[in-house]
Amino acid sequence: MDLDEYFAGKYEVIVVGAGHAGCEAALAAARMGCDTLLITLNLDTVAHMPCNPSLGGPAKGHLIREIDALGGQMAIAGDETSIQVRMLNMGKGPAVQALRIQSDKNAYRNSMLNAILAQPGLTLLQALVERLVTKGGKVCGVVTRTGAKFESESVVLTSGTYLKGKIIIGAAKYEGGPNGQMPSVSLSDELKEMGIELGRFKSGTPPRIHCRNVDFKKFFIQPGDTKIRKLSFMPIKSKFWQDKAEKQIPCWLGYTTCDTHEIIRQNLYRAPMYSGEIKGIGPRYCPSIEDKVVRFAQRDSHQIFLEPEGWESEEFYVAGLSTSMPEEVQIEILRSIPGLERAIMLRPGYAIEYDYVKPYQLSLGLEVRKYPGLFTAGQLNGTSGYEEAAAQGLIAGINAARRVKELDFLIIRRSEGYMGVLLDDLINKGIKEPYRLLTSRAEYRLILRQDNADLRLTEKGREIGLVDDYRWQHFQEKVQKLNKLRKSWGTTILSPQQEDLQLVLQEINSTPLRTGIKIGELLRRPEISLAKIRGILPDLGDYSEEVLEEAEIEIKYTGYIQKQLAEIDRFGKLEEKKLSAEIDYAQIRGLSTEGKLRLAEVQPGNIGQASRITGVSPADISVLLVYLEQKRRTVQNV
Ligand SMILES: Cc1cc2nc3c(=O)[nH]c(=O)nc-3n(C[C@H](O)[C@H](O)[C@H](O)COP(=O)(O)OP(=O)(O)OC[C@H]3O[C@@H](n4cnc5c(N)ncnc54)[C@H](O)[C@@H]3O)c2cc1C
Repeated sequence: MDLDEYFAGKYEVIVVGAGHAGCEAALAAARMGCDTLLITLNLDTVAHMPCNPSLGGPAKGHLIREIDALGGQMAIAGDETSIQVRMLNMGKGPAVQALRIQSDKNAYRNSMLNAILAQPGLTLLQALVERLVTKGGKVCGVVTRTGAKFESESVVLTSGTYLKGKIIIGAAKYEGGPNGQMPSVSLSDELKEMGIELGRFKSGTPPRIHCRNVDFKKFFIQPGDTKIRKLSFMPIKSKFWQDKAEKQIPCWLGYTTCDTHEIIRQNLYRAPMYSGEIKGIGPRYCPSIEDKVVRFAQRDSHQIFLEPEGWESEEFYVAGLSTSMPEEVQIEILRSIPGLERAIMLRPGYAIEYDYVKPYQLSLGLEVRKYPGLFTAGQLNGTSGYEEAAAQGLIAGINAARRVKELDFLIIRRSEGYMGVLLDDLINKGIKEPYRLLTSRAEYRLILRQDNADLRLTEKGREIGLVDDYRWQHFQEKVQKLNKLRKSWGTTILSPQQEDLQLVLQEINSTPLRTGIKIGELLRRPEISLAKIRGILPDLGDYSEEVLEEAEIEIKYTGYIQKQLAEIDRFGKLEEKKLSAEIDYAQIRGLSTEGKLRLAEVQPGNIGQASRITGVSPADISVLLVYLEQKRRTVQNV
C-alpha cells in the first residue's frame, strides 16, 4: 500500500538532526524569533557524543568560546555537566592555551534536551526525514518516512554520520548509524538526485570497558586542575556544578605493549582498514590503533587514556584504541594492556562510513548555492568533531533565520574567529579527509584567543538578535571593567619610593625603579607577571580574574598583537574587493584552466576569498584584479 503524504505543518525554519550541529542551529533560529521545527531520528540521542566524552582542547576550546560569545548553547551545557576540567598548553602562549573538559555524556544530552524543550518557538519531533520538498529550484520543506510533509522557508540539514551509514567490525558490516542507531538512507539518494555532489568518509571509535576489572595501580592518574575554569563567559546557574566542582573524576593514562602490537600484526589481514573493506577516507590525526602500529612500527608502545563516561557511569572510553578489528581480537588487544588483563568489553570499537556533502558547493553562510533555502552543517559538511559541528550548526541556524527575514548572511571572517577559519578552509581549500580544526590553521591566532572570543563576537551576536539581555548586560559590565583597568594600568604611576615594589623587583632580579613607571609599562617587562606584583598594586578587588587575565595578555603581547592587526588590515582590503556571483570565469582571458574551474565551482564573494581557493594561483589573482579595474573604468566611462 502506497504511503500517502499529509500536510503536517508550516514553520519558518526546519532543522533535520538534533546532533551537535542541529541543536545549535535550532536554538539559534528560535532565539532569533523564527518558528522552528527540529526533527530527529531519536529523542533519546539528542546531542549524543558517539565518540570521546570530552569537549574542547586546542582550537576546539576556542570554537566553543566563540559559540558561547555569539549566544550558542554548547559551553553552557558543557560547564553544567563537566566531570573534569583541565587547561591545556599552560606552558605555552595564550594563543594555544585551551580548556578541555571531560563530560558526563548523559547529563550533557539532558542539559541540551532541556534547553531545547524550554525554548519558546521551538518544536521537537522524533521522525526520519526521507525527502526534501523543492519548488522553483528552492527548498521549501521536508517529508518524513511516515508521510508527514512539513513546509518551511529554510531547511538546515545536519545528519552527521548517518547518511548511508555503514558499520564495520571485522568481517561484520551492516547499515547503521552510531551506537546501534538506524542509518539515514533515502536522504542521501535525494541529495544526489538534486545534483548535490557527495563524498564518502569514515570515522572510528574505540571499545568501551567496564570499570570493575580495571587494575588502576598499573595506570597513571590524570586528575583535573585545582583551579576550576568555565567554557562559558556566563555564570553557571546549575546546582550540578556547585555540588561537584571539587569532586572531579580523574582519567587514567596507560600504554600498549609489544604484545599488543604483535596481536595486531598477527591479525592485520582481518583488519577492514587493511583488507580493503573500508572505502571511506578517515582522519589522519585520529588514527586507529592498527594504523598506529603499522605507521609507527618502530614504537614499542602507544598511550591510551581511560576516560570516564559520566559521574555515575561504570563505563570507560578507551582513548587511543580506536579500532574496527573483529570483536574477539579487540578483547585480546584490551587484555594485553597492563591493568586491563581482566577487562570486560561493554561495547566494541567500530568504524562507520558515511556520505558527506562536498563543501565547495556551499556559500560562506553555509547555504547550498544551487538551492536557496537549503543549509547544511556539521559532519555532513565533511568535518569531524562535536565543536566543529556545533559552530557550523550555529552559523547555519543564524543564516537560515536571516534567509527567512531577507537579511544578509552572517559571515565570520578568518580574522574574526576560528569559525571563520573553519568555514573558509572548508569551502575554499576543499577537503580530502574529515576536517578537524587546529590552531596552526589560523594565521591570526594571537588575535583569535579563547579568552577574548566575547570581545570579538558578542556585539555581532547582539546585532543579529541572538545575544539576550542577560548575556549582553554581563558582557557590557565586563567591557566597562576592562576599559577601566586598561585606563588605570595605562595612567597609574608607580613610584620608586614604593619600598615593597622595589623589594619584589629585587626578589625577581628585575631592574629597580629609578623614576616613576606606569603599571602597564612595568608589566611589559618579560620577567614581570601580574601574579608576581599583584600584592603591591592598587586594589584589584573590583576586577574578575577574566578581566585581569585579558588586560595582562593585551599588555604582554602588545607588539605581536599590533603586528597581526596590521596584517588583518591588509587582509581586509582584499576582502573588500567584491566579485559578483554572475561572473563567467571561463570568459576571462589570462586565467589558468584550473583557476577558471575552481573559481566557477566556488564562486568567491571577493578577491581575498578567491586568493585562498586551492588551485587559484597568485597570477590568477592579478588577472582578476586587472579585470575588476577594467570593469570599474568601463562603468565610470558609461
Ligand atoms: C564512530 C564515531 C567516531 C567518531 N570519532 C571522532 C573522533 O575521534 N574525533 C572527533 O572529533 N569526532 C569524532 N566523531 C565525530 C563526532 O561525533 C561528530 O563530529 C559529531 O557528532 C558531529 O555532529 P553532527 O551534529 O554533525 O552529527 P551527529 O552528532 O552525527 O548528529 C546527527 C543527528 O542527525 C539525526 N539524523 C540523521 N539523519 C536524519 C534524518 N534523515 N532524519 C532525522 N534525523 C536524522 C541523528 O539522529 C543525529 O541526532 C566520531 C563519530 C562517530 C560516529
